[in-house]
Amino acid sequence: MTGNKPTVSVNGRDYAWPDRPLVVVCVDGSEPAYMEQALASGAMPALARMMVHGADLRADCVIPSFTNPNNLSIVTGAPPVVHGISGNYFLDPDSGEEVMMNDPHWLRADSILAAFEKAGARVAVVTAKDKLRRLLGHGLHPGVHGSVCFSAELADRVSEGENGIDRVLELMGLPLPEVYSPALSELVMAAGVYLMEHIHPDITYLSTTDYVQHKHAPGTPEATAFYRMLDGYLGRLDELGATLAVTADHGMQPKHDAAGRPDVIYLQALMDDWLGEGQARVILPITDPYVVHHGALGSFATVYLPDGCERRPLLERLGGTEGVALALDREAASARFELPPDRIGDLVVLATTHKVIGTRPERHDLSGLDAPLRSHGGLSEQTVPLLLNRPLSGLDPTRRLRNFDAFDLALNRVTATEAVP
Ligand code: ZN
Ligand code: ZN
Repeated sequence: MTGNKPTVSVNGRDYAWPDRPLVVVCVDGSEPAYMEQALASGAMPALARMMVHGADLRADCVIPSFTNPNNLSIVTGAPPVVHGISGNYFLDPDSGEEVMMNDPHWLRADSILAAFEKAGARVAVVTAKDKLRRLLGHGLHPGVHGSVCFSAELADRVSEGENGIDRVLELMGLPLPEVYSPALSELVMAAGVYLMEHIHPDITYLSTTDYVQHKHAPGTPEATAFYRMLDGYLGRLDELGATLAVTADHGMQPKHDAAGRPDVIYLQALMDDWLGEGQARVILPITDPYVVHHGALGSFATVYLPDGCERRPLLERLGGTEGVALALDREAASARFELPPDRIGDLVVLATTHKVIGTRPERHDLSGLDAPLRSHGGLSEQTVPLLLNRPLSGLDPTRRLRNFDAFDLALNRVTATEAVP
């Protein structure tokens, strides 16, 4: 029941105006088994209730199965070839420097969030870590139409001018959480509920952190406690009348050997061996300033080769290397994974389910790993939940669903119900 509200077009897709508040939640690192096991053990009663009439779907995330490319895909409704964010970290071909891709400067597309704000919607974005806040909030004007955008990490430093809200912790009556804690994600969810109750956004995007998922397997007491917490807030948002779409940026798998040591292919060392010291440059797009829980080890790497270096023999050697699931050249990787070709190397290498790719042993500080490594980045972490608290209609059963279809399903496919008062 959109009345005369506009349809919003962005990145080649049309989105209907929400007929009730929409909340899209990206649960970082939420391998489907987390919610499946929490549901089975009775730890998610609100979600169980929603799934009676809602949609319990699975979708594919973007490869590399890392945080930034996927969060940006979800909010733009498009793959990385469109929005430009190919990893958390990349080699800038213009400067030859390895840089973080946290700056909106790297974005090549507008977000659905910004497009709706421009059309007059009130938008709220709350992220766990501040690294994502600037990317996800790009194009938003906090304060305009009451829009709000802040991170839980820096929730003690929000301002009306920068974030569209002042003294948010005081208003919510909560302390600033540790960066490495489940409480950081809890603050995101609590803020979603607080904003829904007090500023009534038309569209809310909440993005948590995968601190718990990196440390704890599905079904463990710590994981169950996290999902029980999540369930409380999802239940509250549902009661407040929101349409809810819950998905994940990527899954999570154990990446260690039987002795609990990280199972690593040191790709830079391998390349040095094959081509000579420092000839090739291995980039790990999982790299970010918060490496404590994964030691910068994920299952995806990209390799820059020296000029004139033949790729075919290297791809063959990599293909025959134990633990390599897939090795592709730039063109093939860019076509298969819809990645921007100018932001990946000459080669793309993916590890098998329980392996990760590193550079050289001495370049990975694993001292912060206090539990056997769990990580992501590869094809084995591509399946994610895509859950909606309302029934869908007109969905082609053969359609390959992506996590970045969350807004499309929630705005265009939710069965029209009686208008909200
Ligand atoms: Zn993530
Ligand atoms: Zn992670």
